[in-house]
Order: sequence, then C-alpha cells, then structure tokens
Amino acid sequence: MSNVTEYKNFINGQWLASKSGQTYENRNPANTDEIIGLFQQSVAEDATAAIEAASEAYQKWRLVPAPKRGEILYNVAKRLFDNKEDLSSDMTREMGKVIKETRGDVQEAIDMTFYMAGEGRRLFGITTPSELANKFNMTIRQPLGVCTFIAPWNFPMAIPAWKMMPALICGNTIVIKPSEHTPLSVVNLMKACHEEGVPAGVINMVTGDGPVLGPSLINDPRVKIVSFTGSTRTGRIVSEACAKNFKHACLEMGGKNVEIVMDDANLELAVDGALWGAFGTTGQRCTATSRIVCHKDVIEKFTSMIVERAKKLKVGNGLDEAIDMGPIINQKQLDNVLKYIEIGKSEGAKLQTGGERMTGGEYDKGYFVQPTVFSDVTTDMRIWKEEIFGPVLSIVSCSSLDEAINLANDTVYGLSASIYTQDINSAYTAMRDINTGIFYVNAPTIGAETHLPFGGTKETGNGHREAGTAALDVFSEWKSIYVDFSGKLQRAQIDTE
Ligand code: NAD
Repeated sequence: MSNVTEYKNFINGQWLASKSGQTYENRNPANTDEIIGLFQQSVAEDATAAIEAASEAYQKWRLVPAPKRGEILYNVAKRLFDNKEDLSSDMTREMGKVIKETRGDVQEAIDMTFYMAGEGRRLFGITTPSELANKFNMTIRQPLGVCTFIAPWNFPMAIPAWKMMPALICGNTIVIKPSEHTPLSVVNLMKACHEEGVPAGVINMVTGDGPVLGPSLINDPRVKIVSFTGSTRTGRIVSEACAKNFKHACLEMGGKNVEIVMDDANLELAVDGALWGAFGTTGQRCTATSRIVCHKDVIEKFTSMIVERAKKLKVGNGLDEAIDMGPIINQKQLDNVLKYIEIGKSEGAKLQTGGERMTGGEYDKGYFVQPTVFSDVTTDMRIWKEEIFGPVLSIVSCSSLDEAINLANDTVYGLSASIYTQDINSAYTAMRDINTGIFYVNAPTIGAETHLPFGGTKETGNGHREAGTAALDVFSEWKSIYVDFSGKLQRAQIDTE
C-alpha cells in the first residue's frame, strides 16, 4: 500500500484532504490486484467548502471577458492534446475500456474544450428592431453562477468536459463530483485546467459517494443549476430535489437504443455497426445498441453473421492494443449483466452466443463477460425493455418499415436510433418518426460529435441538450435589453406613434 498515490479534493485552487479523514481504494476492473489510487471519501462539509469557493470566485470570473476565458480554455485543450497518451492509459486502467476508445474519450474532451474556447469570441445574442422610434433592442447571455455536476463512469473525461467547458466559457464557476469509479480522469482534468491558468475557485472537485454528497450539491441555495448524467433512477432523485427550489436541472439519463436492419440493407455494414454499437465500451455507453430490429427476410443471415463476428472479439485488458472489448466496470454491474442474461434465458429468448462470465488466468482478476447475442426476443421480455448496460444484444424480427418504427419506439427511453437501408424514403420516414434525440442513417447508434446537440427524449432527458451551441442555453440565461434614446416615455403596445 505504501506506493499507492493518495489523490485529494480540489477546492479553491488547493488539493485538500476530506474533512472525513477517510479515503477509498479504486481498483482496475481488468485487474483488481492493481489499486489505481486512494481517493477522498468526502462528506457534506467538503461539498459546502467547494460551493463556497465557487460562489466567491464567480464574482470575478463572470467579469473576465469571454475571449480571455477562451484563451485559457485554448491552453487547456492544447495541454490535454499534448498529454493524450498518458490520460488515455490512466483512463483505461481506471475504467477498463480499450485504449483506442479512451483515446477517443480524451479526444472528445479536447474537441469540446477547443470548441468552447472558440465560443469565447461568439456567444452571440441578437439585435432586433424596436416597435418604437429611437429605441434599441438586443439580447445577451448571462451566466447563472455556481453549477454543480454529477458525472457517471462510462465517459470519465468526455462527460465532465462536456459540462465544464460550456459552463466556464459562459462565465459560471463549478463544482464537480466524478463517479466513485473514475475519479482519476477528473483529477487529471482539474490539474490541466489549474496549471493552464483557470483561477482558484473557478473549478472545484469533491470525490466520493453520490447519496452522501448529492444533497449538498443540489440543495445549497448558492447552486443555480445541477447538471447530471447517469441512470434514470438517480436522475429522478436529482430532478425531484431540484424542483423544490425551482433549480435548473439538466438531466442526461438511460437508453435502450435500437438499430433497424431493413431487407435492402448492406448487411456487412449493418453487422459492422451492430458489433461496434453493442460491444464497443463493453456495451456500457448510454448510446450502446442493445436492440436490433431486423427484417424477417434477412434476419437469419444477419444473426449468423453477427454471431460469428461476436465470437471472434478478443476480450481482455484494454491496455493491450489487440483487445476489442474490456471488462465491466465493477462486480455489481457484472452481477447485473449476468442477472439479465439469466432473465433472457428464462423468458425464452434464444442465446446465440456468449452468456458467461469469463474465467481462468488473467480473467479471474477482472470483471469479464462474453459478448452476448439473444435472438427470438419478444417485446414482453425484460431484456427488450430494460437498460442492461453491458455487452448484451437482443434481436427482434419485423415485416415492414412501419412495424420497425413502432418497435423502435417501444421503449421508455429516447436517446439514439439508427437504420440501415438503401432506400432514401425509408431512411427519411424513420428519421422523422422515431422519437429519439439522436438518429443515424447507415451508421451505428454511437458516434456523437461535439458540435451537435446531444441528449434524448422521454425518460432519457428533460428537454435540455449537451454539446453544440445547445449547451450554451443550459449554462446561460437570456437577458433582453431595451435602450430608449428618445428622451421621452414610450409605452410598448400602447403608443402608436
Ligand atoms: P448512476 O446513476 O449510478 O450514477 C451517476 C452519478 O450519480 C454518480 O456520480 C453517482 O455517485 C451519483 N449518485 C448516485 N446516487 C446519487 C444520489 N442519491 N444523489 C446524487 N447523486 C447520486 O449512473 P452510472 O452507473 O454512473 O452510469 C450509468 C448510467 O448513466 C446509465 O443508465 C447510462 O445510460 C447513463 N448515461 C447516460 C448518458 C446520457 O448522456 N444520456 C451518458 C452516460 C451515461
């Protein structure tokens, strides 16, 4: 234990131990012998100190010209870019996903940081004519104040950056609570921001348990918005707590994403997409493909093609470049995935491949499960309806585009969907009629880019979007300004000349 690093909270520009005096161990899910580090088991007092620091820093940060804020973010982005390889391998060690995917995660953080650095010279409002003479109308964005962020573990740096960078460029200050399972990537992000000139108090981080820290991060009256990404169950807790004080809540939650494969689809491409969508990140993406709706005329061929490919995926420690799929994040989630596999079998779905925890040799030290494909799934089954968040794919048959669209919409979630077809009419009809926040044509359900809005409908979200300029609407409020230079009282809607 002596050579295990202890990481501190980051409050008001300083690395501080928790008032609890307690730390917790975080271990590598691919090799539980490896301790990634000791992290602070923070308590309410720590969260309150972080909010205090953010609240004080806000008074100065909001007045820093946005292009200057942008210059700092630009340097942060360059720093992340220069350290990309180390940041990625830290992330693979703490989260498990394969190194080419953690490079992508860090790249998303870089892209978002550069993008929002550029927004420092835009943050456009509008000017518009007044209905009255000698009067000038315009809108400006104003920051909200202190923002708190509650993050999940599946995108350890990208999701924190997606929240932080638009908030910072708008002039807000922040407190972030990373997932208990992936705090190191947020420590790394804090370090980069601090060392590249983000002033003390503008960014703060407390590590630890959600249920312990959540009430302070949500209920403190100095907090103006809570941005949460995680399960729909926790999102509901956050939403209800925010509602009491009319606090803004931006919620990004669960998914049960679907790929439709029509009878005219390029099947090779559809299989490539399904494989990457279902088993990339070990199925632990909010946009992961967990349902396939396949036309009955090609379902047999599609199923045998994907089963053959799934069997060939190399599962193991993601630091090895040859590995296709890493471990599940932890024992609890592994148990959950195995539970759903048993449910699928007992409900009568046909297990085509996978279905087992992987054991023997290095596998015994991690949380590995086989890529799993079920066919003959019906819409009353729990594996069709509930988010599993693991490498489990369910295939359902359809006979027409209308039926495929109905099946795609047969979920309480609304994050991402895709269709594989050569028919432009089918593609556009599905694009219009499937109720999700993200839609792909001839591409997998995953693969968002940072300059487009990201988020979902129904129980996936509450109407906000991250990324793109939509993120600026989350982290600023419009102020409409009327300047009257007529020198007399002019009454809107009443004075006509
Ligand atoms: P989770 O809900 O268990 O945890 C998310 C965060 O909430 C963690 O930081 C956790 O500590 C905190 N938390 C837990 N209980 C809390 C409480 N009572 N009060 C306040 N905070 C609390 O989710 P997870 O397991 O980390 O992530 C997986 C889930 O996230 C999946 O459902 C996935 O679909 C979803 N997700 C959604 C998106 C999206 O953009 N829609 C992106 C990534 C992940």
